[in-house]
Amino acid sequence: MKLDTKAMRHLTAEDWRVLTAVEMGSKNHEIVPTPLIEKIARLKGGASGVHKSISALAKVGLIARMKEAKYDGYRLTYGGLDYLALHTHAQRKHVYSVGSRIGVGKESDIMIVADDKGTQKVLKIHRLGRISFRTVKANRDYLKNRASASWMYLSRLAAIKEFAFMQALKEEGFPVPEPIAQSRHTIVMTLIDALPLRQISAVPDPAGLYADLIALILRLAKHGLIHGDFNEFNILIREDKQPGDAAADDLTLTPIIIDFPQMVSMDHPNAEMYFDRDVNCIKLFFERRFHFVSTAPGPLFKDAKKTVGRDGARRLDAAVEASGFTKKMAKDLEAAIREQEANSKSNGAESDDLEDSSDEEDEGKDSDEGVNGAEAAEGQHIIGSHIPLETEGEMQKLTINDET
Ligand code: ADP
Ligand code: MG
Repeated sequence: MKLDTKAMRHLTAEDWRVLTAVEMGSKNHEIVPTPLIEKIARLKGGASGVHKSISALAKVGLIARMKEAKYDGYRLTYGGLDYLALHTHAQRKHVYSVGSRIGVGKESDIMIVADDKGTQKVLKIHRLGRISFRTVKANRDYLKNRASASWMYLSRLAAIKEFAFMQALKEEGFPVPEPIAQSRHTIVMTLIDALPLRQISAVPDPAGLYADLIALILRLAKHGLIHGDFNEFNILIREDKQPGDAAADDLTLTPIIIDFPQMVSMDHPNAEMYFDRDVNCIKLFFERRFHFVSTAPGPLFKDAKKTVGRDGARRLDAAVEASGFTKKMAKDLEAAIREQEANSKSNGAESDDLEDSSDEEDEGKDSDEGVNGAEAAEGQHIIGSHIPLETEGEMQKLTINDET
């Protein structure tokens, strides 16, 4: 599903209030009864055209009428949640405009945004549960059977977890984007001016880059963490020119790691499997892409395990848990991520880019990968029509009509 801010500027203060009321009602109701929406909205802002706002919001797909329910009610759509999150980012002055989409994964949309000074940033919108939205019917069953695991809750958890890890990693000096803000299922972070490793066809020193990446895996382990999805999509390679040297081969390549919702602790029952998977992912990629095979075996989990906390390394797994991301939240999110992984494995159509085996020779592929992905995802969402925002270079103004 695409983020479409087109209707945003037309929303009145009353519409925002009603949208917020639906969100508040969603905390206790799968489908928020209309009288409850009226009640919450009125409490917040006095009696008036709640019904008019409900129709306006439903018309642009921010809330959806659930006719099959036992009672008359609405639920918030992904679009509605997107608007609420953007609204918050805008109020906090983190986002002023929304530009083009640079990536679409199975679990997220990545947008370029800018603040009012024109500084570009990245907005990551988590979309967990999207796979289960293939048809309206499937979605309905999903929600019915998994009330506590609704997409809204899970996507929010993914954003909270990712933000917490990004903060902890940044503080510890890891090469990650700077986390700026989190609202609901979204994160704002700095834009990294770098291509994913996936799009790099050759490097001057594969052995050096390989060593850097393995060192990162080991450094994470020392802090109690396993990335869990350490692949060529989640490693951005920044080219840093040596000062005063124009020669192209004097570029330093700096890997920046992204994408943290699936990170696991070195104490996780399946830690060894995740650790080995991350290591092997890099080995396999270097062999295929750069024809580089390391002479050094490993690294092995059992050796990495011994280094956890060594030299006073701060346990970031513990730090994140202490920050409020509880065990229950971790469990719920992990179940959803594993389910999504399993889904994507049994669904070749969508996983072609990630289950990288046949598409080795596609170095020329660029950012329209995301757009293609979006087409593939079409029809899954149950939210009204969405106009693409990929107007190259042109930022769409978010004029938010709300006095609060
Ligand atoms: P997903 O969970 O869907 O895989 P990611 O966080 O990995 O989402 O982001 C998907 C893609 O978006 C990345 O492969 C990268 O190309 C791009 N991207 C994400 N975050 C940034 C960022 N901060 N700066 C630049 N590009 C980014
Ligand atoms: Mg990713």
